[in-house]
Amino acid sequence: MHEDWVRQVDLELDGELSLPERAALSRHLATCRHCAEARVSHLEMRVAFARSAGEPHARTVPRPRIRARALAIAVALALVAGAAAGWLAHGRWGGPGAGPLEATRATFVAQ
Ligand SMILES: [Zn+2]
Repeated sequence: MHEDWVRQVDLELDGELSLPERAALSRHLATCRHCAEARVSHLEMRVAFARSAGEPHARTVPRPRIRARALAIAVALALVAGAAAGWLAHGRWGGPGAGPLEATRATFVAQ
């Protein structure tokens, strides 16, 4: 339940809530310390993002979710690149199962 409101807080800070939705959220925040504090920390997080973006007094809030998504894509690409490199290495030098177990272990130790 609170998680839904915290999600609403994010949307509100992004300017994506309609007036009735904002009213409902404000009503909840007036009675719920948990969500009110979540809103404060979300705002402070955006302040930190604005600062790190070199715009400490920005009126529009930077959108950490986009950064998080970009980061996730970068991590995914790195994983794919790593897997590809491992696959190439496997094809070139052979992997486990290519020879006797002792030889495979020696290969690993040598590498
Ligand atoms: Zn709440």
